[in-house]
Amino acid sequence: MLVSVAIDLALDRLFTYSVPVELAGKLKTGQLLRVPFSGRIARGFSMKLSEGDSVPGAKFAVKPVMAIEDESPFFTVELLKLVKWAAKYYAAPVEQVLRAAVPAAVLKPNARPKELLFVEPVKDAAASGLTPRQSVLLADIVRVDGGWLSQLCGEFSTSPATIKALAAKGCVQISRKVSRRDPLGGKALVRSRPKTLDAEQAAALAAIASEDPRPVLLHGVTGSGKTEVYLQAIARELEAGRGAIVLVPEISLTPQTVQRFASRFGPLVAVLHSALSDGERYDEWHRIRRGEARVVVGPRSAVFAPVRNLGLIVVDEEHDSSYKQEESPRYSARDMAVVRAGIEGAKAVLGSATPSLESWLNAKRGKYVLASMPHRAMNHPMPEVRIVDMEEEKARSGCAPIFSAPLMDAIRSRLDRGEQTILFLNRRGYSSSYACPECGYVEECPDCSVAYTYHRVDDCLRCHVCGGWKRPPDKCPECGAPSFRCRGIGTQRAEEALVKCFPRARIQRMDADSVSRRHSHDEILSRFRANAIDILIGTQMIAKGLDFPNVTLVGVLNADSSLNLPDPRASERTYQLLAQVSGRAGRAELPGEVYLQTFNPDASAVRAAASDAGYVPFAEVELAEREAAMLPPFWRLATVNFKSKEEPLASAWCALYAKSLQSYAAKLSGASRLLVGDPVPAVLEKAEGWFRYQIVLRSKSPRSIVGAYRWISGVRPVPNTVRLALDMDAVNLL
Ligand code: ADP
Ligand code: ZN
Repeated sequence: MLVSVAIDLALDRLFTYSVPVELAGKLKTGQLLRVPFSGRIARGFSMKLSEGDSVPGAKFAVKPVMAIEDESPFFTVELLKLVKWAAKYYAAPVEQVLRAAVPAAVLKPNARPKELLFVEPVKDAAASGLTPRQSVLLADIVRVDGGWLSQLCGEFSTSPATIKALAAKGCVQISRKVSRRDPLGGKALVRSRPKTLDAEQAAALAAIASEDPRPVLLHGVTGSGKTEVYLQAIARELEAGRGAIVLVPEISLTPQTVQRFASRFGPLVAVLHSALSDGERYDEWHRIRRGEARVVVGPRSAVFAPVRNLGLIVVDEEHDSSYKQEESPRYSARDMAVVRAGIEGAKAVLGSATPSLESWLNAKRGKYVLASMPHRAMNHPMPEVRIVDMEEEKARSGCAPIFSAPLMDAIRSRLDRGEQTILFLNRRGYSSSYACPECGYVEECPDCSVAYTYHRVDDCLRCHVCGGWKRPPDKCPECGAPSFRCRGIGTQRAEEALVKCFPRARIQRMDADSVSRRHSHDEILSRFRANAIDILIGTQMIAKGLDFPNVTLVGVLNADSSLNLPDPRASERTYQLLAQVSGRAGRAELPGEVYLQTFNPDASAVRAAASDAGYVPFAEVELAEREAAMLPPFWRLATVNFKSKEEPLASAWCALYAKSLQSYAAKLSGASRLLVGDPVPAVLEKAEGWFRYQIVLRSKSPRSIVGAYRWISGVRPVPNTVRLALDMDAVNLL
């Protein structure tokens, strides 16, 4: 018997070993094996078993597998199929996909579960000869029915020695136990009961529950109760003995989101989150693998979660670009969810208030079943959205204010009424650039082709691409002028201006800089929920998924920020962002109001966000434009990316590839027609010291794109001074 093994070296090939007799029968696909590899011991996953004991034509005898690291497979047969599909579709080495599929923590040998001391009261123990303090402590321990030694010490302000003294007297027993490191912190959860669905929700649930194997696109406006539909669809799966995965965008994987699932399904829920400790991740992953946790909530990598007997995969906010991994393997978790559901015979549900045009077109073409929920739950109205033309505001007051007059009035009236406001600005820091007022010199990061952002809080210039920072110069390095001007508005500057305007209001900023400690995100939101904050000002972090009943006003300070990016999806992204942020207003009894400040009041994305008609007409117009321009979702778009520390190398290899690909493409026609763009520097020309170039490929057939890439990278391998990658279905063209 032979086994092919994927070894963690990104070599994009499998190695064949023989299976020794003592392992035959035990060795399965998907297991982690120990094998000899060029003079050392390596670990790798078993991918395929085959008959025979030698490789035909091989010069050397195959070496035997040394051991099976873990008998229970890390990958089911279905998951291995998914991994192989991704490797092929995204032109990525299979080991790289395997590595993306299993959290690194799970493979670390030292991540095994911890054993802690557990204290249990001994039933009917003769509690004689105890000191008064010991009796009180024993009564406490009996009352809570024991617990972890360290926990009890904290709870009852006592020492381990005191509890051990109780053990010596036979009143309690202390033993070593495996403790589950619980990312929910073992919080006692109030169980939530299923709500009675309204007619739209019931119809959506019926579409999900139907025998039709097609994925369901759940298009429900913000606050329409999509989450309740997911919850009830999951409950059905659990009753039938199946499991479910819920993918959520990383940024909205807040305790609030997790809580909604955990309070319905309790310990059946596992959370996979980038902020988990290695131990927590190890435990959660193994709980899933053992089948103890049957509902997994997590970001894109959770699409690989080893859920048994999978019945349902939900992709919430399916339009979100964080589902696309921006490093190899550059997979889209949304698309993989659909593929995995197909492999496992599960149902895929893609939910959004603002679906991606890819999914919308699939629904129009009948590849997906469309379920619409055009109204909010409980008949709550959609918020009133107003556009504020900042050109007019500028004309009125001489310069464009951070807060327009109508927005100021609206904030004031919320403060008077004790209601809450969310202000959104897509840029953290104080100002977007730090420039000399005399000669126009702008401080730029030496490693990236972007201007530094000034951060007033700690008086430094930071690069938002590489994270590098420096102290601001005293005088202009070009002309020696002594002062600098801050151009553009970031959250810190807006917060400062807000405090000046409303000195008595309780204002809180929430962005990547204010949220660094692990729980402060959670803390800010609980204070906001408890009405201890009047105005929350922040970035994307506050745009998604938050559900606060007392928020009646949302202000978007710069609705144009993503509109003018050189990206075919700029308009779609802007609309999605505006609609999502607006959706935070008026979610309960109190009606909501939204102000969109913009210099482009006529842009279709802005108009659509302010119109009652909403998504559908916007999508139709946008689709027509995309079709005419031969862009996604009608055409597949991929980029071939080159980066090098030496600019001439990146540009020369890019030019060479473009030329070869163009002549290759000239021979293709019909369904495999391939359009090859010119070699160009990426929009972000330099990042972290790497010069970046790219070629855009378009075709109606993804196979044509991957085929061309495989061909060229095979016949013209780049030197190791150049990094080459294909970004299939690229969502970020910067
Ligand atoms: P979405 O995910 O579509 O934005 P949510 O699921 O957050 O919407 O629902 C919005 C609000 O409406 C939540 O507070 C939720 O508890 C409530 N809700 C949803 N469905 C119902 C229902 N059938 N009956 C009563 N309240 C509901
Ligand atoms: Zn930088």
